[in-house]
Amino acid sequence: MHTNTSPPSRPPTQSVWHLSSTDVRSVDCPTCDAAKGQPCLSLRNRPLNVLHRGRSSRYLNLRFGLRATRPRRGGPEAAAHPLTGPALRAVPVAHNEPWRLPRNELADLITFSFLDHAKVVVAEACGVERTGLTELLYDGDRLSASIDALTYAQHDLQIRREERCLAVGRWDQETQHLDWQYAAVAQRAQEARKEFQRRRTEDLTAAGVLPGLPATDDPREQALLWLAQHLEPQFRRLLTEHAAAAGLPPEASAAVRTRHGAIERATARGLIHAPLHGDALRVHGMSEGEFRLRVLRDASTQADRDDALCHPLLLHRWRQHLKQLQTEVAPGALSPSAQSLAPLAWEELRPQSLHEVRELMGRRRLLGNLLQRYGENRRLRYAVHDAISIAEHAHPEKPLLMAAARDAREELGRRHPDLYKLIRNLLEPHLTRYGRLRLRNAQDRQQARGQVMLALLESERAAAPPRQVRC
Ligand SMILES: [Zn+2]
Repeated sequence: MHTNTSPPSRPPTQSVWHLSSTDVRSVDCPTCDAAKGQPCLSLRNRPLNVLHRGRSSRYLNLRFGLRATRPRRGGPEAAAHPLTGPALRAVPVAHNEPWRLPRNELADLITFSFLDHAKVVVAEACGVERTGLTELLYDGDRLSASIDALTYAQHDLQIRREERCLAVGRWDQETQHLDWQYAAVAQRAQEARKEFQRRRTEDLTAAGVLPGLPATDDPREQALLWLAQHLEPQFRRLLTEHAAAAGLPPEASAAVRTRHGAIERATARGLIHAPLHGDALRVHGMSEGEFRLRVLRDASTQADRDDALCHPLLLHRWRQHLKQLQTEVAPGALSPSAQSLAPLAWEELRPQSLHEVRELMGRRRLLGNLLQRYGENRRLRYAVHDAISIAEHAHPEKPLLMAAARDAREELGRRHPDLYKLIRNLLEPHLTRYGRLRLRNAQDRQQARGQVMLALLESERAAAPPRQVRC
């Protein structure tokens, strides 16, 4: 008699990753404030193709009390109840060839799982072909994340090759293969970085920020500009007065001393869309020690990222800590440079044990991660500063502000006729017969400026009462 030996019916196989962008969109975004159901917004308030990482964490937290990470032993995630019912799997399951997934699933997979994203970029760099794969990985909103994944993969392949060399003591087939993959990924990473810069230039050009205005050939204007630079505090006071008289708010004419200051001013003027609340606000209020720990913790894990650090008002602080950590970690990682993961001279090393090899590789991995984060931080800073340049360029206050600055410089010239005259005399040899400046290139101009600034300082010193000389 024939008996049915097939196993009891199982639920149909679910796809490996159940987190979809439609699900995540059902909560509001803590990073950009996008409302439920709405796409995430860029700093320029434009809808993005991808969702912010903080939004998927929030979704998982709200819905399941989980975070989108692989559980860590003893960590807070491990305490969460493991939920693995059908239609729910909050921990990504490794897929051997994720690039074969249907396109929408693949798009969600690389949005929510960094390590799978890295797998896919490596496959693509090493020649896997599939219609639309390259576009998916390198479209406008994913380019930066793909550069990040390539950078991670590049370090990972390098470190795995070095570890193998140290363990085996020579090059073998596996190290050859790792090296081949490394070269392909490094090449792709370089191309992607170039593409990133090309798109930046394109964006800034389309917005009219680039090319910048040519330097003036009017000697009067140039003299006043340099005078204002020499008497900066006075110029600032006059500018504030003139800007206020033109009805501009004080933030518009506030002086900017640092790159971070530029972000603060733009935020105050409402030029960039970057709400500071929740986690980002908490991190903003941290002491340097706590902040450093946060940066280190973020750099130590790849599966999850700290969205709060990406907040525009935290970017420069994050950068400072990354730089410092790189310098501290590089010697232990046997990298002569703190700005790159220099190749390991493994032939010269005599590790005593496997444990020692692992420890060294751990330190190299940390340096690699810090460098990778530094790259991410730099792309984020570029994005913020470009967004500010574009917003300032198009702002209705800009012509008023420029007029106020011009008036302030004119007034400065009237108040210091002797200094103005001094500059004009120094510019005299650089004039054409029609009285225009003949400083053709930036170098000539810089040289003339140096001469002028020196002369201004000397005239100031000559006019000042003699100071007591210390012996
Ligand atoms: Zn968002």
